[in-house]
Amino acid sequence: MTPPPRHLVIVGGGTAGWMAACTLQKAWGTDCSITLVESPRIPTVGVGEGSTPLLQQFFAGLGIAESEWMPACDATYKAGILFDRWTGDENFRSYFHPFFSALDLQPAEQFFTNCNARRRGRACDTQPDHYFVSASVTAQGRAPVPRQTLAHPVDYGYHFDAGKLAAFLRGFAIGRGLEHVLDDVIGVEQGETGEIAALQLAECGRLAADFFVDCTGFQSLLMEKTLGVPFVSFGENLFNDAAVAIATPVDEAAPLQPQTRSTALSNGWAWQIPLQSRRGNGYVYSSSHISAEEAERELRRHCGAADSVPARHLKMRVGRLQHHWHRNCLAVGLSQGFIEPLEATALMLVQFTVEQFVRDFSRGAQESYNAALNSMIEGIRDYIVAHYLLNTRGDSEYWRACREDARPSENLRALLCAWDGTGDFDAALHAQRQQQVYLRPSWYCILAGMGRFPQASVAKAGDQSRHSALDYCRRAATELFLDHREQLARLPG
Ligand SMILES: Cc1cc2nc3c(=O)[nH]c(=O)nc-3n(C[C@H](O)[C@H](O)[C@H](O)COP(=O)(O)OP(=O)(O)OC[C@H]3O[C@@H](n4cnc5c(N)ncnc54)[C@H](O)[C@@H]3O)c2cc1C
Repeated sequence: MTPPPRHLVIVGGGTAGWMAACTLQKAWGTDCSITLVESPRIPTVGVGEGSTPLLQQFFAGLGIAESEWMPACDATYKAGILFDRWTGDENFRSYFHPFFSALDLQPAEQFFTNCNARRRGRACDTQPDHYFVSASVTAQGRAPVPRQTLAHPVDYGYHFDAGKLAAFLRGFAIGRGLEHVLDDVIGVEQGETGEIAALQLAECGRLAADFFVDCTGFQSLLMEKTLGVPFVSFGENLFNDAAVAIATPVDEAAPLQPQTRSTALSNGWAWQIPLQSRRGNGYVYSSSHISAEEAERELRRHCGAADSVPARHLKMRVGRLQHHWHRNCLAVGLSQGFIEPLEATALMLVQFTVEQFVRDFSRGAQESYNAALNSMIEGIRDYIVAHYLLNTRGDSEYWRACREDARPSENLRALLCAWDGTGDFDAALHAQRQQQVYLRPSWYCILAGMGRFPQASVAKAGDQSRHSALDYCRRAATELFLDHREQLARLPG
């Protein structure tokens, strides 16, 4: 058993740095002194406002209740993601990708059965929104938090202000003894064996440690720039490399739907994220297909932002490091790679990277750790790439290129081939169970939601299975869940 390092230094004070700090402090705090160095000059990326359900476990692990962190971070609940206009076919204009739970077991089985029948050419209803309780919870503007404890928990995620979340976690970690240094790393000293020995700080001088965590964002200062770990680009599959973000006011009169809305635009897609006091909007696009100025104009039109509202432009580097733990260094967050924010998976990866590292460090399982992380990242990538491959939009060269020029992995090709044939799609999914991050409901939702069916199979208007499933979902939403704003009001501010 390898004991924890005695002194560990984290470089970077974005969400990744502070999430890593809190987790490592909780796991090793008594045996290891932790310092976080953060530049007062280089801003954090400042976006990243949606999570997956795994974030529930992050806060639970730290013993932080929703009533403590959510009001401080302007947070709302999230039941899933609405994908709007990702196809050119009005019959498949939008679908909801839900966070699912045991409440969905029965209607979801009906959905899978209908999808498989329709794949074989039979007309039946396959609109995902009719078969998942969280889609009805969202349509009714409720929060996905059950009013009373159920036999099985309900998974949900969050929306939040990224800057406020980092500040909250900073306060939490510093309150528990973490040393915080505001300074710039201007040099890195390596030992004879190539390990990192110390950092050179602009003001405070030399800072030595046994272990270093690189949370320096896209510049990957320690892992890539110092240790030379290669970067594997996903550029041949994912063409988006830039984003522009704008905040707009919330509409207090409209229901507060617990969803991220992802709308396809001319050369990428736009997110809309409802927070308590504002709405986050952004356009993720390919800079080879549209200029930053045109993208900003298109986003302003889309979200109704006046020219006077400031916009923030960002560049994205899409891909991953070859190794995430190398020598005495771990890369976490944008420094280890980024897929793109379509399914809001980056913080989930941050959490997994640090929690699994704590488990694997003591047994020195570096090789299997790096392999597990790469497999997870590639599993997420395949699901993201599927959105682009399945698009049927005909309005720009960008959407044609996404469909025809991308080079999907073997795994993704095998899944699409199984779905398009008449064989057993579940068997194909099962065969990839070790590599897939997204589970059966997610794959059925995307394939059915984007209308990947034989042309002749048109749903019948009076399909009975649709009615009974939708009635069940609507009833469950009404009976088990409170209005979203009412649920938030119960959290002390
Ligand atoms: C457009 C966009 C949308 C996104 N949406 C989502 C989303 O919905 N959900 C999600 O989970 N994720 C999302 N992400 C990803 C998410 O924003 C990041 O994973 C998260 O913010 C973590 O960033 P980070 O801490 O790794 O890097 P950063 O926020 O860039 O922080 C880097 C830190 O390193 C410090 N630093 C850098 N160099 C030095 C130096 N030399 N010396 C000292 N300090 C230094 C900086 O000062 C800063 O504190 C999105 C990302 C983008 C680009």
